[in-house]
Amino acid sequence: TDASVHQELTDGFNLVIDALKLNGIETIYGVPGIPITDLGRMAQAAGIRVVSFRHEQHAGNAAAIAGFLTKKPGICLTVSAPGFLNGLTALANATTNCFPMILISGSSEREIVDLQQGDYEEMDQLSIAKPLCKAAFRVLHAEDIGIGVARAIRAAVSGRPGGVYLDLPAKLLSQTLDAEKGAKSLIKVIDPAPAQIPAPEAVQRAIDVLKTAKKPLIVLGKGAAYAQCDDAIRQLVEKSGIPFVPMSMAKGLLPDTHPLSAGAARSTALKDSDVVLLVGARLNWLLSHGKGKTWGAPGSKKFIQIDIEPKEMDSNVEIVAPLVGDIGSCVNALLGHINADCPPPPAEWTNAIVEKRNANIAKMATKLGKNSIPMDFHSALGALRTIIEQRPDAILVNEGANTLDLARGVINMYQPRKRLDVGTWGVMGIGMGFAVAAAIETGKPVLAVEGDSAFGFSGMEVETICRYNLPVCIVVFNNNGIYRGTDTDPTGRDPGTTVFVKDSRYDKMMEAFGGVGVHVETPDALSRAVNEAMDSGRPTLINAAIDPEAGSESGNIGNLNPQSVVKKK
Ligand code: ADP
Ligand code: MG
Repeated sequence: TDASVHQELTDGFNLVIDALKLNGIETIYGVPGIPITDLGRMAQAAGIRVVSFRHEQHAGNAAAIAGFLTKKPGICLTVSAPGFLNGLTALANATTNCFPMILISGSSEREIVDLQQGDYEEMDQLSIAKPLCKAAFRVLHAEDIGIGVARAIRAAVSGRPGGVYLDLPAKLLSQTLDAEKGAKSLIKVIDPAPAQIPAPEAVQRAIDVLKTAKKPLIVLGKGAAYAQCDDAIRQLVEKSGIPFVPMSMAKGLLPDTHPLSAGAARSTALKDSDVVLLVGARLNWLLSHGKGKTWGAPGSKKFIQIDIEPKEMDSNVEIVAPLVGDIGSCVNALLGHINADCPPPPAEWTNAIVEKRNANIAKMATKLGKNSIPMDFHSALGALRTIIEQRPDAILVNEGANTLDLARGVINMYQPRKRLDVGTWGVMGIGMGFAVAAAIETGKPVLAVEGDSAFGFSGMEVETICRYNLPVCIVVFNNNGIYRGTDTDPTGRDPGTTVFVKDSRYDKMMEAFGGVGVHVETPDALSRAVNEAMDSGRPTLINAAIDPEAGSESGNIGNLNPQSVVKKK
């Protein structure tokens, strides 16, 4: 008998799966189809959890937020051309948000694509992905799969995290290789996101600036939440006695009810502070680029910035003390100096913040307590605020315009990485993808608070939520439209451009797939329905009828919406 007949073989399919497993990848989010259908099946058979979505963008968003929650790259698997492009939106969004993710797409034959001879789903995916992500790789030979996966993992999680594209041509998957040679070709990535220790001079410079502060402020961004050095950050705030403002997804790093939280006095804190320590937060549009009215008199501010990305420094305004390194290492380095060198901030400053905060909280309290019919955003959010207070380990997913802006202020968070929202782009459509991954990655109950418009972008994934029987409770704030439900077509021909079918019943969608649907019109009924859903863990969608007149144009960012001054008659 010929020895080669008995030779043990492996192939591209198995090598991809083995490489992912070897690197601790436990879940793949994707949409099956040619040429990756069997890859998904075989991955499932090999013990990887394969979560199939209805649209790649949502699978991609799931992978991205899995990356944020776990510090491991979230994996999204798609077919070629259109499936790849759908996933690419999520990959670009992940990169923008600094979430580690790997988009793996099958692709057509290189020979045909490169000569543009018209293959099934022909597209030069690698070139298209490149400018939209942190790194992009293609593997042509099965013996390079181990290297390809290793490079993708390192690129996604080291330094500033981001999205990586990995192109796997159909032919690669069925290429065979001697099994032993194949096994040896795989790499278990050692220390994929190495600590980056800040230079002692940079630490000293930051401390020197901090010592001069009369009105210091710490701004915590989602980089700080991502870094998972929660204790060090809490110590930094508490030992220094410096008030902090959390960015949206950094809420809960310290509880919003913490005595040093300046969240409810955000405007005052940003405007009147003199030294600002940014921890994993960029001075982008969400912080008014570090200048203008938001930040008070020109030249009144000194910025210290902790970031792993050196090029982030001076991106918008001068950073007088750049502290480049990973947040854990940087914060720990600062902590070494805080007791001895840094006096606590003057009581005048901290008291001013507390007064402003208390006044704002009192103002809001009256709006929240109303049990009004129809509900407005505040009365509905008042009910949800209590629920998160009572269930602080639940994960809150949040998108919409008014639904987002108001929930951010109303719903207090108590634990790190429990608030997942529209992020750096302020993009709609993350809802169901984030909800699925949050449930799968953490095993905690998920409350998704969605504007009716925002929900529409990923609404079909309620089937996915029901299929995997996930403990997700979706609340649709249904005010019949985008911003408000009252627009009309001046010509009288069609519905207004920003309105939907009046009094829609989104709850019926959930029932179609075996989930629980509830329609509510009062805060009490909303509260009851959410509590029931969270106790039972059953997939639930609550259609919360909100006054169509409630809500303001563009939510809180109307200033970014250009207006025509020359309207056609
Ligand atoms: P936010 O929107 O909450 O203000 P951003 O996304 O603007 O937050 O900023 C997050 C920042 O955190 C990015 O500049 C990113 O480079 C940085 N970052 C992410 N992870 C780390 C880490 N482990 N160590 C240091 N910086 C990090
Ligand atoms: Mg709406």
